[in-house]
Amino acid sequence: MTTGNIKNFEEQENKILLVEDEDSLAIGLAYNLMEEGYSVQVASDGRNALEQFSRENYDLIILDIMLPYLDGFEVAGRIRKISEQVPILMLTAKSGIDDRVKGLKIGADDYLVKPFHLDELLLRVRGMLRRKRWYKSRTASPEYHFGNNKVNFDTLSCKTPEGEIKLTVQEALLLRYFLDNRGRVLSRREILKDVWGMEPGVETRTVDNFVARLRKYFEENPKKPQYLQSRRGAGYIFLNDPDASEK
Ligand code: CA
Repeated sequence: MTTGNIKNFEEQENKILLVEDEDSLAIGLAYNLMEEGYSVQVASDGRNALEQFSRENYDLIILDIMLPYLDGFEVAGRIRKISEQVPILMLTAKSGIDDRVKGLKIGADDYLVKPFHLDELLLRVRGMLRRKRWYKSRTASPEYHFGNNKVNFDTLSCKTPEGEIKLTVQEALLLRYFLDNRGRVLSRREILKDVWGMEPGVETRTVDNFVARLRKYFEENPKKPQYLQSRRGAGYIFLNDPDASEK
């Protein structure tokens, strides 16, 4: 299979690019996603995925890591150079804990470990698309300042000490959550539940990696954060008045 182009009969706004080289898995997932009412296109290798991505607008990318020609990391990295906003769900191997971290660092929004239950995938997809829609519909007070940072939550563009950057939707949601709850210690579980909509098990690396990303953007010294601080054994707290934090 080179490229499957499978259209839904129903009118459907959510278009998913599924990048998976295992034919049987790709066909099964595409079928089930279409049953849920999504429009699905399949790319069976990394090059193909980028070609399709450059031609069409997608609402979500489901991206396997082990792919011919270009692997999922490479594909995610290149997609992020073109679009900061399209949600990326990575499919990782069970053994590859480093892969999950690497994927999140490159710009994936979430990951699923293979083999996964179909229901779990559909739940994640639904959640990611819902957050994207919810995010788009938020227009009140789009600008926020802290320190030398200015964040525009409409465009997701930010002025930081490092220069102009663009946030991914998931990064923006997390930052927004910290801002809405500033001055409050937030546990990783709480964050995962409220921002990702996940009932967390022991898996909290996702939060840590996203916090690291935000610190890299906004902190003068990410190792000694002024705004997004850790509270050992408790979680994270956002302080927008760093002088008041020394307690
Ligand atoms: Ca694969």
